[in-house]
Amino acid sequence: MRQTFVSQLRWVFCVAAGLLFVAGGAMQSAQAQLALVGAAKVDITPKQRVRMYGYGSRITESEGIAGRLKAKALAIGGEKGEELAVLLTVDSGDVPGELRAEVLRRVQSKTPLKPERFMLCNSHNHSCPDLTGTASMTAAQSERITAYARRLTDLLEKVVLDAITARRPGRLSWTRGTVGFATNRRVLKDGGWTGFGCVGGALADHSLPLLRVVDENDQLIALVVNYACHNTTLRGNFKQIHGDWAASAQEFIEADHPGAVALVTIGCGGDSDPCPHGTVKLCEQHGRAMADEVKRLLQGKFTPITPELVARSRPLEVACHEPPALDELRKRVGQSWALGRVLAELERGQKPAKTRTVQIATWVFGDDLAMVFLSDEPGVDYALRIKSELDGSRLWINAYTNEITYYIASKRVLNEGGYEARNSLSNTISYGIPERVQPPIEDRIVERVRSLLPDGFAAD
Ligand SMILES: [Zn+2]
Repeated sequence: MRQTFVSQLRWVFCVAAGLLFVAGGAMQSAQAQLALVGAAKVDITPKQRVRMYGYGSRITESEGIAGRLKAKALAIGGEKGEELAVLLTVDSGDVPGELRAEVLRRVQSKTPLKPERFMLCNSHNHSCPDLTGTASMTAAQSERITAYARRLTDLLEKVVLDAITARRPGRLSWTRGTVGFATNRRVLKDGGWTGFGCVGGALADHSLPLLRVVDENDQLIALVVNYACHNTTLRGNFKQIHGDWAASAQEFIEADHPGAVALVTIGCGGDSDPCPHGTVKLCEQHGRAMADEVKRLLQGKFTPITPELVARSRPLEVACHEPPALDELRKRVGQSWALGRVLAELERGQKPAKTRTVQIATWVFGDDLAMVFLSDEPGVDYALRIKSELDGSRLWINAYTNEITYYIASKRVLNEGGYEARNSLSNTISYGIPERVQPPIEDRIVERVRSLLPDGFAAD
C-alpha cells in the first residue's frame, strides 16, 4: 500500500501572533485569532459551444449560456510560504486530476503550496463543459473542449494566485444551519433499487456548515458553505450552460453581502438530488433557500476558529481483482459507465490497474473544526456515519474533491444495488461482480478518516 506524504506542520502564525492580535484581553478572547486570509473569483464560462457533462443523453454541444460559471479561491495563512493553504471551488462537473496537478505545479513555481494544502472542490454541476469525455467526441468537439481546458488551467492558476495576493489579516469562524432541498434519489421496492426519484423521508444530510471569513474590521472577505446534494436541478433535456443551484446560491449570497466571495463545496451527496428539479427557476429557488439560511445564520453566534492548521493526506488504495477476459468483461459492462471506462482502458492496451484509489485528506483547525476531504462520489451514509462515530459537532465533510472517478457506495447501497452500486469503486475493482472485499470499503474509509484526525475528535 502506497502512503503519500503526511504533513504534520503546525500552522502557527508565530510572527503574526505578537504583532497582529488585537489589544485588549476580553475582546481578544471572544474572537478568533488573526490569520492572513484572501479570496478571489474568476469567470470560467466557456466562450464557444462545448459538449456537456453528466448526462449520456446529451450527444450534441451546448446551445448558449443560461448562467455564468465561476471558480473561487480562499487562501489562508502562508506567511512562512509552506504554511499556505488554498481551497478552490469550481463550477465544474469534474476537473481532471491532471488539470488540477498542472495548476498546482504552476502555483508551486511561484509560491510554496503543498499538495495536501491545495483542495479543489468540484461542484459536480451537470450543465457545464465535459472535461473528461473526450473519447466519445468528434475531433472538432474534442478540440473545443481541449481549448476550454487550456483556458480553465490558466484561469484556475490566476484565481489561486489572486487569492494569495489578496491576503490580509482576518479571522475565521463557523456555524451550522439547515436547508431542506437535498432528497434521497434512490427509489426502492422490497429492499432493492428500482430507479431514480425524490424519496421524501429517506436518508439525506440537510446540514449547512458556514465558514465566515472577515478582515480585522469585521468586513466580510468570504463565506464558504457546504451542502450534500448533486448539482442536478437541470436535467439532460437542458442544453445550455448553467452552474445549477450551487452557482445560484453563490450569486445570491454575493448580492446579499457585497464584497464577500461566496464559495460552495459539496458534501456526501452521491445519492441525493435537489428536489423539486427541472428548471432554472428551481435552481434559483434552491440557491435562494441557501442564501436565506446564510443570511439568518449571520445574525447569530459563530464559533471562532483558531488559525492553526494541520493538513494531512493519505489515500486509500484498494486492490483490484484479476480482470476477466475481454469478452467476459464486455458481457458484464451492461449499464455501468464505470466498467465501460475500465473496458476502454483495457481495449486501448493499458495494463490492468492493480489498485484503485480514494483520496482522503483532513484540515484540522486546532480543537475547533476538522474539515474532511473525500474524492469521488460518496453517498449520504458516509457523512452520517463519520459524523456519528466522530465528534460530528466539529466536523465539516467535503466530497467531490480533487478527482471524481466513481461512486463510493456504502454497504447499504451495495446491498440494495442499482445505479450508484453499478458505477461504484466496489464494482470497478471486482470487474462487475458484487463486492465481497473484506474489510468493506465503507469501513476502511471511515477508519482512514478516523486515523487522520487527532484523538480529540473522537465521539464522546
Ligand atoms: Zn454524480
